[in-house]
Amino acid sequence: MSVRRAVWGLMLVCTAGLAHAEAPKRSLLPQPRPQLTVVSTPVPAVRPAARPTARPQELAAQPSKPRATRKGSVCNNANIKGTALQPIASRTGGCNVAEPVQVTSINGVRLSPAPTINCDAAQALAIWIDQGLQPAFQNQVVQMNIADSYSCRPRNNVRGNKVSEHGLGNAIDIGGFALKSGKTVTVAVNFGRQIRAAHKAACGPFRTTLGPGSDGYHEDHIHFDVSKRGGNPYCR
Ligand SMILES: [Zn+2]
Repeated sequence: MSVRRAVWGLMLVCTAGLAHAEAPKRSLLPQPRPQLTVVSTPVPAVRPAARPTARPQELAAQPSKPRATRKGSVCNNANIKGTALQPIASRTGGCNVAEPVQVTSINGVRLSPAPTINCDAAQALAIWIDQGLQPAFQNQVVQMNIADSYSCRPRNNVRGNKVSEHGLGNAIDIGGFALKSGKTVTVAVNFGRQIRAAHKAACGPFRTTLGPGSDGYHEDHIHFDVSKRGGNPYCR
């Protein structure tokens, strides 16, 4: 009898001990699982949503960058060939060109190297080439040799001077001309009847013309610009 009691007593202790031991395991297990699932789901949901909204805005801004040119023409003039460039703005020196163009030819005359100017200057050149330059050279000019165009610098490269018209895209410097015969005439060496006549005819299409004998800064090139200042054209 005492042995049976002892066995039953052990069995009761063991089962009770097992029951007590298993109970906390069951109750603890479900608790960490919902915490893990709740924490993990919102993290990936936020990240993909932020990216697609930013990218279409960047792509939508791109088509406005290259200003398209029809058949290689710029400035709404079929006879002015070249490419439209990005706006030029300088934080120092006051240089600024809102709509610069790089012009390769005007009215069939090559510009070499292709100058960077604005459309006001390009249109003035187109008028001058037809009405001043080609008549002075009996329509023999095939190329203009460009000495300078857009350049962010003070007038006459003198520090402290006001920004040059070159820094505004308004100006072009021409050093000489190539003719159909293959001959090249330069302002420095050949400032004779023909170049003088062409230079004189630029006063009108351009607001300012300067050449050899004007101010000492233009002995080897002629300077034309479409300055926005008031008053009469300044032609020397
Ligand atoms: Zn100049």
